[in-house]
Amino acid sequence: MVYLFCGLFGSVLIAAVVTPLFRKDDSLESAIIEETEWDLLQRKKEVVLSNIQDLDFEYKCGKLSDEDYKQIRGQMGSEAASVFRHIDEIESTQDLDALIRREINLRRNRSAADAQVKCTACGVTNPTFNKFCAECGAKLKT
Ligand SMILES: [Zn+2]
Repeated sequence: MVYLFCGLFGSVLIAAVVTPLFRKDDSLESAIIEETEWDLLQRKKEVVLSNIQDLDFEYKCGKLSDEDYKQIRGQMGSEAASVFRHIDEIESTQDLDALIRREINLRRNRSAADAQVKCTACGVTNPTFNKFCAECGAKLKT
């Protein structure tokens, strides 16, 4: 039981530490559109859901008694439900246009990251991380 709580607490901590590392960094556009409560809730939703997944997994492995499982699963379930409800509330009351604009900007940043570089020798486009042309083997200028 104690181990379980440590494990859960640990995974929440790890998630809290690791998630910011994977966030898009400060391009101008994403800096303008600041993080909203909605973003936080989205991240919380992911954490809660992955915790439930972990719990289910541990239960299936036989590390938990039925009682413990039911109790913790119930708590997590109601936590997840409240996060979902909260997200719904925000989406129904907030400026959806702002959310859409945000998503578009994120996508735009992403496709900039997937930019292509054109081979000067044969004209084939290659991803920017290629050092040599995939088609003709010429060195690519980046
Ligand atoms: Zn080439």
